[in-house]
Amino acid sequence: MNCPKCGQELKEDAKFCKGCGLRREVAPGRRLLKITGIIALILSVGGIGMQGWLFMLRFAPDVFPKEMSQAVAQAMSTPTPILVYGMILVWYSFFVAIMAIVHCRNLAKASFLGWLGLLWIGMQVGSLFVSYYYAGAELAMAGLPWLPLNLILPILYIVGAIKNDKAASLQD
Ligand SMILES: [Zn+2]
Repeated sequence: MNCPKCGQELKEDAKFCKGCGLRREVAPGRRLLKITGIIALILSVGGIGMQGWLFMLRFAPDVFPKEMSQAVAQAMSTPTPILVYGMILVWYSFFVAIMAIVHCRNLAKASFLGWLGLLWIGMQVGSLFVSYYYAGAELAMAGLPWLPLNLILPILYIVGAIKNDKAASLQD
């Protein structure tokens, strides 16, 4: 990639042109993607922990003391497809978070990150349908308050990716 003003060759992450001193905005979506990625990382690690706990209660209830029988009973009543779908969703969120943090300043990866975010939104909406299908409207409604939160992160992620994508097309 070359400087748009003087034509000097520039490094991918150079903040200034060595030839003419032109200041470059390297990756305008960088901060947004990084912050979004860090929040998603924390939430998904928490989610993986909670899902692991549910799986243990469900499939190895003897590991836990008898006093926890109510929690065990609750875990037993969660339909398996919801547990499995939830697990896939939190692991996907974890993967997307890592991608955001690693590639937040990489303009060439912007479209890829955008598509990951779009798939993320699709999976969040899909979790509503899975809950509804396997456990009825009540459980699906219980998941509704989480939907705005679960949609905000992927949307921020896509906004960051689009910003980088625009910057990449300007530099070409
Ligand atoms: Zn220059």
